[in-house]
Parts: sequence; C-alpha cells; structure tokens
Amino acid sequence: MTEGEEYLRMYPQLRKWINQCNACQDTGYKPELPKELSTYGGETSFAAKNLRKFFKPLPLNEIGLCAVCNRFN
Ligand SMILES: [Zn+2]
Repeated sequence: MTEGEEYLRMYPQLRKWINQCNACQDTGYKPELPKELSTYGGETSFAAKNLRKFFKPLPLNEIGLCAVCNRFN
C-alpha cells in the first residue's frame, strides 16, 4: 500500500478529492482541490497539503480517463 492510500484509509472523507482513472486505475488529487481544507478541525488543516504530497494532480476527462489514457482513445 502506498503512503497516500494509507493516508486515505485514516481519513476516508478525503477520498472525495481523489480522482481515479477508469482505465489505468491511476490515482491523483482533483485539480480543483482547494489550498486548504479546514472542515475537520486542526488535524486536517494539513489535509490539502498532504494530499498534494502523496498524490499528483490527476485531471480526468468527462468519461473518467486520465490524460495518458485519453491519448490512446
Ligand atoms: Zn489512465
């Protein structure tokens, strides 16, 4: 398991900021992730920062494909 997956296991509510490609299953954070997430108290004020640390930005197209997979379709 990657650090990022472990982190999401601890904070499952953060999954809503994670994109996963339908084809290659690659994961990353949504480009619209705000600079700070302060909804869950002190602990998760680092959430946005951590997501950026553990994941790369992963924009998906309208059918849920990452840029790499999109190129082959
Ligand atoms: Zn992909």
